[in-house]
Order: sequence, then C-alpha cells, then structure tokens
Amino acid sequence: MQQPITGYHRDEEGHWVAELACGHFQHVRHDPPWQNRPWVITDSGRAGMRGECLECKKCDEGAPPDQIEESKD
Ligand SMILES: [Zn+2]
Repeated sequence: MQQPITGYHRDEEGHWVAELACGHFQHVRHDPPWQNRPWVITDSGRAGMRGECLECKKCDEGAPPDQIEESKD
C-alpha cells in the first residue's frame, strides 16, 4: 500500500527511518548499488521527499503501527 512520508528519525545505528502516515516506519537506506536513495543523505533531500509515497509492506501484512524505540536505562 502506498503511504506518504510524514517525518523521519534515525535508528540506533544512525540509519534514516521514514515515518509513514499509516504509523509504520520504513528504513530508507542509501546503500548503492542495491538501494539508491541519494536524497536521504541531505536535509533538503529528505524535506523534498516528505509527502511522497513509499510502498508499505507492513500495511499489506496488517502489521500494528511501529513505535520509536526508547533507549532503556
Ligand atoms: Zn503501513
């Protein structure tokens, strides 16, 4: 299901994660030649992709919404 990007955060390893309107998160790695997303490298690139749609497999699977992992004390 196509879902628009509503925001971003980084995971514990520093990888960018897109937050989708459906409540699911999706890694948006720039890892050429397998995954080419040069826009994720820059602030302006990410801002430009806000509102653009990504294919959300979690919606197709009926997965519950994702939540940002809080670091445990
Ligand atoms: Zn989804």
